[in-house]
This record gives sequence, structure tokens and C-alpha cells, in this order.
Amino acid sequence: ETKKPAREVKTVCPYCGVGCNIYLGVRGDKIVSARGDTDNSVNKGNLCVKGRFGYSFINHPDRLKKPLIKRNDEFIEVEWEEALDYVAQKLSGYKGDEFASISSARCPNEDNYAVQKFTRAVMGTNNVDNCARSCHAPSVAGLAKIFGSGAMSNSIDEIKDASCLFVIGTNPTASYPVLGLRIIEAVKNGAKLIVADPRNINLCKHADIVMNQTPGTDVALIMGMMKVIVDEELHDQAYIDDRSEGFEEFKESLQSYDIETVESITGVDGELIKEAARTYASIKPASILYSLGITEHTHGTENVFALGDLALLTGNMGKPFGGVNPIRGQNNVQGACDMGCLPDTFPGYQKLDDPNTIERFETAWNVDLNRSKGITFPEMVMAAKNGDIKAMYIVGENPVTSEPDTENIKDAMNSLDFLVVQDIFMSETAQMADVVLPGCSYAEKDGTFANSERRIQRVRKAINPVGESKPDWLITSLIAKKMGAKGFDFKDASDVYDEVAKVSPTFAGINYGRIEDEGIQWPCHNEEHDGTPILHTEEFKTETGRAKFIPLTYRPSAELPDETYPLILTTGRSIYHYQTSTMTGAVEGLKKLYGEDYIDISREDASKLGVVADETVKVISRRGEIKPKVRITDRCRKGVVFMTFHFGESATNVITNSACDPISKTPEFKVCAVRVEKI
Ligand code: SF4
Repeated sequence: ETKKPAREVKTVCPYCGVGCNIYLGVRGDKIVSARGDTDNSVNKGNLCVKGRFGYSFINHPDRLKKPLIKRNDEFIEVEWEEALDYVAQKLSGYKGDEFASISSARCPNEDNYAVQKFTRAVMGTNNVDNCARSCHAPSVAGLAKIFGSGAMSNSIDEIKDASCLFVIGTNPTASYPVLGLRIIEAVKNGAKLIVADPRNINLCKHADIVMNQTPGTDVALIMGMMKVIVDEELHDQAYIDDRSEGFEEFKESLQSYDIETVESITGVDGELIKEAARTYASIKPASILYSLGITEHTHGTENVFALGDLALLTGNMGKPFGGVNPIRGQNNVQGACDMGCLPDTFPGYQKLDDPNTIERFETAWNVDLNRSKGITFPEMVMAAKNGDIKAMYIVGENPVTSEPDTENIKDAMNSLDFLVVQDIFMSETAQMADVVLPGCSYAEKDGTFANSERRIQRVRKAINPVGESKPDWLITSLIAKKMGAKGFDFKDASDVYDEVAKVSPTFAGINYGRIEDEGIQWPCHNEEHDGTPILHTEEFKTETGRAKFIPLTYRPSAELPDETYPLILTTGRSIYHYQTSTMTGAVEGLKKLYGEDYIDISREDASKLGVVADETVKVISRRGEIKPKVRITDRCRKGVVFMTFHFGESATNVITNSACDPISKTPEFKVCAVRVEKI
């Protein structure tokens, strides 16, 4: 039933990293509408289907309303006091590296700050990570090494005025639809668009050049483009001399990437690669946009290095409408990293191995800190299985469904002595917990999200917390206080952010008063500073102030097709759902539009297998099997099949590969070998 709102509250969409500003309509204690904000907002009034209609999960009857403790394999509702006492008493037995936490890329910065402070200052370990590990950790590692910062270099608003856009390994019209609109607007304004993706995504209809590379061959493709650029002297030698180092060694590494070799590795026509290289190098400034099709590989960081090299080679960094721009798929994955929910990085990207960092935080928090680097989520899984990690605290994440090789994750969760999960619904991971604590949604609390372009924006409380749920920063602080910790007496979310600004020079000039109307893009070092829409305009944030070329060698994916598993499965998103659909799955309209997962198969493969549309098939990998229905499509080329990862019932991650990128530890969600069988 649609009701008119009695009042509206301006906040930020909780789904993708565009960070659209929305007005939530409120009647009583219910959210009854959502509309896009037109004033000074990143979305200029636009919203996609998730932002516009995906709010009914907030008042869904299945929301967790009271704390739960598992006794004799059954969850029993308890009062907060009892739950907090129990969690505090249990966690007191696991100090140091026996403990690990996972924080949430869906939760505001304040919640993330509290989790990492609790982990470091109370539990005495740096074992804290967030789901960026499974998505953009290669961007953080790769771009930081080349340019000194792992974030999007330019701003979303610049896209519409770009002259040339190179969109690779991302499906913007499905995953970040409002940003996708900007790309289409740029094309209408005359921009050249190059799309490189294993599938014929929607954006291909608007592109001047489309390259459908074999999944996992991006390094070879980009190296091939760069060899063409250097051979034809289209690179920007003056920029290279002025602002970079390591060019000669890098140039050497291009030698093996002649066009015939690249054509045979990538499956892309050589003439098309040449045309893409010439277009990108000669129409300036040119912007690169990418996301998980680049990062979720066993060579994800090398893919990011390749894109950094390409932008540097052509002098496209530090300029309006240029840069290298990783688009974030989750509303606050940027913020979870900004807040230091990483095993080697404190808030504001202050490195653990810098003695000044430890000193600053020991003084600010008045505790002695553990100086050893923590471990990443895939390492936590191993450590839990072999008994080194005994207790975990997971806030707002559902790794049982979101991580590759589901059985492996379940084994790890089952091996723990004690698991606390804090969430708004009884997720697959929450079901395995000893204690489940009800956090509240973004509509029920104050805070800030950082969108893809590093803009810190206000999240505002629209209704009271559902049931007895509480803001996550408050729950974490209450546990810390029960454990006798000092430094968790935050008055409200704004008070938490003030501490963030005090301990992180990058955010020092930001407070709630300053972002009341519109957000500020970090870095913002003091209250007179207006923020930074474009990074690297003067110098790079590396030790020498110069960007570093990285020589590269193409390495194939961990699993290649063979006789037993002849197809490559690659994964991605649908426009209608978000992550493991714990939120969008509770929205009836979105479920109606897209309620179960399909496997997309090319016509040629479907006819070879003798399968027809809507037929249920078995999809089998070395790790397990699932049974989705078939969708026959021109989007996939022969030999490549595609699934989303939104649904627990046909959980795609039962079959994906947990092999990781050695640098970032990000799993290879984008390539695994499978076979499809008729049932
Ligand atoms: Fe929300 Fe992203 Fe859609 Fe904007 S584009 S409404 S931020 S999901």
C-alpha cells in the first residue's frame, strides 16, 4: 500500500558507490517513499530502481529486533544487558591474534571506525578486514604503489564532459546505473567510448569500439595497447620525463606483446586493439573507469598496475576529465577502507609499519598497540580452520554467501569457538553464530558514507531503530565498555567522526557542520580547505613525488578450461539486486523483477549442450555444483557463461574459485572452469 509521507529526510542511498542523495519519505515510524535529490547532488535527481524502490527492507517483518544467544542449537531472544555481558565475558578470553573482525562496507564510517578501534585497542590485534578484500583491495594496493593513493582520482560529475572514456571490466548500467547515465551523457556530448568486457554489456550499444576479451587476459590486452602507443610514438614523453620514473624498464617489458601474441591470448582482433590504443592515446584527456572485472583475479593488482601504466604513459593523470577511476560497488566500501578496517592500515591510510602511526594512535587511544600486521579475510579463513583464530566478530557482512568456495567458509565458521554476528537480518552467516546482535539500518541512524569519488556525505536518521536494534557504533562501544575499555564514551555519531578527524590528517578538516548541505571529497586537511575533486594535480603522493611505471608480465588465470570443465564462468551483478540480496531480497517488487539466478549461455554453447531457455541445469566446478535455469543470450561469447552472485538458493559462490591474488589476497571470482550438464 502506497502512503504519502508526512515528512522527508535527506540521506544517502545505501546501495552502490555512486552515493546518490535521496529523500526518504516517513509516515509514523515507517519509510514509505524515496525520491532523488536535485540540489547539488551527485545524482542530479536521478535514482536507479534500487535507490527509488528498494526501501521496504527497512520495515520488513523479518528484521532482527532483539539480541539472540544460541543455546542447544536454538536461538533464544535475550535482553541487551545479558547479550552484552555474555559477549564481553566470552571475548575477554580471546585476546590478541586469536581474535579477528570483519567490518562492513554497508555501514557508515562511524560504525567502521568503532570496529577497528575495538579490534586494535581492546582486543589487541590488527586482524581486521572488510569486504574490499573481495573487491577493490587490488585498487588500493595497485594505485597506491603507482600513484601513492588507491582511490578514484577524479570526480563523477566530470564524466559527462570527458572527451574519451575507456571502460574496462565494469558494467555501469547494471552495477552503478546513475554513473552509467553519465557515461551515456558523455557519448551524447561527443565523447569517444571504448568498452572492453568479456560480455556484450548494455554500454556496448553506445560504444565506438568494443573489445570482448577472454576473461582473465586484461594484462595482455592493455600491454598490447601500450606497445602500439609506444611503437607509434603516441605516448606523452614530456609528461613521462616530468612526473614519472621507471619508464625505460617498463618499455622493455612491452617487447613480448606484439599484436599477434596479444590477439591470440585475448581473442580480440588486432586491428581493434590498435584502434582502441590510438583513440585512447590521441583524444585527451581520457578517463579510465573500471571495477571488479579488473580486480577479482589472481592477477588483479597487476591488472590495476596495467591501467595505471596506461594513464601515465599518455599523461592522463592529475587532469580534469582524465585519471584512473575504480568504481565502488558498495555504498561505503571506500569508507570502510578509509576508516582503517584493514590489517596493515589505520584510519586515513596511516600505515602500521610507520612508527609515527603507532605513536599517534597509542597517544590518542591511551593504550599499547599490537605492532604486528594483522591478517586478511582469506587468511582468517585458513587460521580459523587450523585453530589459530578462535573468535570472530562479523558486522554487516555475509561471507558464507559472498565469498568463493562456500563449503570452505562454512568449515572455517564451524571451527571457531565463538562467533558474534551483527546484522539487520538473519543472514546465512548469522545462522552459524553463537550470538546475533541486531544492528539498525542506515535509515535509523546518523553517520557518513564515502562514495566512489571520496566524497563524505551525511547519512541521517529518518526513523527510530526497528525493534530493539541499535546503531552499530553504539553496540561495538557498549561491548568495549563492558570489557572495561576506556575511549568508547561517544555521545553520538558526530562525536565519533570528530575523533576520526582528530586522528587522521586526511579527514582533519571535515565535521558534520561542514557537510550539512553537500559532502566534501578527501583529502581535506583543515577547515579552510574545500576538499580535493582531482588527485595528483601537483605531485604524486609517493616518496619521490613521481609516479612509478610497473613492468608487467601476463599470467593466465588460476583455472583454465579443459576437457572436464570446458567453459569459463564469470560473475557479476544484476541491476535489481545488491550483493547477497539480504536487503533487496526483502523488497517484493525487486524480487518480482528478478527473483532467481540464471546461467547465461551463448546460442552456440546452448545448442551444443542441447539445452533450452528456462531449463534447469547442473553447473559443476571442482568445488561443487548448483542448479540454475538457463538463459540463452547474445551477451556471452562462445565458451563463456555468466551468473550473478545475489541468491543463497543457487549460491554461485559454491562453485567459484578461492585462489587469490598474491598481493591483495582478493579471490578470483571472475574466472573459474565449469561444465554444464542436463539434468
Ligand atoms: Fe543507489 Fe547506486 Fe542506484 Fe544511485 S545508482 S540510486 S547510489 S544504487
